[in-house]
Amino acid sequence: MLYRTHNLVRTPNIRSILSRQTHRVLLRTMCAAREASTAPNYDAFFNRRSLARQPSAIRELQPFLSIPGMISLGGGMPNPTSFPFTSLEAELVDGTKITLKGSDLSETLQYSATPGLPRLVDLWTNIIEKEHTPSTAHAWGVGVTTGSQDGLAKIFDMFLDENTSLLVEAPTYSGALASLVPLGCNLVKIPTDSDGLIPEELDATLSNWDCSVDGVKPKVLYTIPTGSNPTGATLSLERRNTLLKLATKHDLLIIEDDPYYYLQFSEKRISSMFSMCSDGRVLRCDSISKLISSGLRIGFVSAPTPILHRIMLHQQSSTLHTCGVSQGLVYALLNKWGPDGFEEHVQKVTAMYAKRRDDFMASAKKHITGKAEFHAPAAGMFVWFKLLGVEDSTDIIKEKAVEKLVLMVPGKAFTPGGGPSPYVRATFSTASKEDMEEAMRRFGELLDEIKP
Ligand code: PMP
Repeated sequence: MLYRTHNLVRTPNIRSILSRQTHRVLLRTMCAAREASTAPNYDAFFNRRSLARQPSAIRELQPFLSIPGMISLGGGMPNPTSFPFTSLEAELVDGTKITLKGSDLSETLQYSATPGLPRLVDLWTNIIEKEHTPSTAHAWGVGVTTGSQDGLAKIFDMFLDENTSLLVEAPTYSGALASLVPLGCNLVKIPTDSDGLIPEELDATLSNWDCSVDGVKPKVLYTIPTGSNPTGATLSLERRNTLLKLATKHDLLIIEDDPYYYLQFSEKRISSMFSMCSDGRVLRCDSISKLISSGLRIGFVSAPTPILHRIMLHQQSSTLHTCGVSQGLVYALLNKWGPDGFEEHVQKVTAMYAKRRDDFMASAKKHITGKAEFHAPAAGMFVWFKLLGVEDSTDIIKEKAVEKLVLMVPGKAFTPGGGPSPYVRATFSTASKEDMEEAMRRFGELLDEIKP
């Protein structure tokens, strides 16, 4: 990849074809290289499959296309005159419009750069810099993925195989498990409570690890620190600090899957671990799904450059790049809003979910108190019920609740390695206030009926 080669940044022609972000990454790489590095040896974390990924000869030509005077007989780009679009327009809820046309449109309709449309990568890099002010001691960059799910799948694929272990919260996101189970890796469960992952449990697991019995010591932790799916828990600042210290102590990388980061109900958002880490150990996954649209399928990975490089080599051989039209629309929207407009939107969405959370909690308290334990989440869209006197909720939720016309998800779906779970996940994201009240009434009635 271009950003690995320091000399390239000084070549005027090359500078002109690099996006601002790529150029900044190059400069950060150069600055970081000059500092005494405490960053891990990333090569020790990649599996054989990832190390075997080679750059695509054709994809590597992509940045050279915009050198003035370049005649391309290279990449197999379809002739754009065959594309039947002259403009794409989206009307926003406030009645204003965003329109893709001219070169902005043609760029989105054609094959484009693997890490993302340069203007979108630049824009999200600015958001990360402003929101998280990451340490400048280590080079990092941003890549656009097809939702954060795609970023996660690529990250897991890069680190894990039948011979490795991953540290996961128990319970964890079922979509992550769907990606992880086929990789055949060992999932090492770290207990959580209503404040998220318990650092002392993590430390004990790693300190007591016996390679001769347990196999290779885990090198990677996967966590959903804010408004977790499924528990709704948000990891406290203190625990975040402790986790980072443990990462250094045990030479760990942390995958910070944070799609609910912007849905925090407190006045001030809690710091991300990406922002708190000073030794290049955190890979951050962001998503626009819960803020702008889940169907556009746009996510972002922010990671130390050697790691981003490996993820993007995977992308070169899978999706090539995230849908250009989606990227073009998201860029046009965020650019039109500017930082203030984006924040205004975040505040509106957060206020909407906070109100829903309050309505849902009021109904849950009224109908479920004494029948299950539950907490009001400080972020996100989930409430996690622990059914009292129940060993496994699966049949209750899949059969009896469905008969009562209430859909929820049994805790088993979020349990790494399966096994019984007395928990149930419910979301307050879409049902009306009246429907939430009725659902909790029916759920309460059901819990009364199954009482031993
Ligand atoms: N991680 C978590 C914790 C999620 O809850 C979700 C969405 N359900 C994702 C990742 C995937 O989000 P995206 O739509 O960005 O792929």
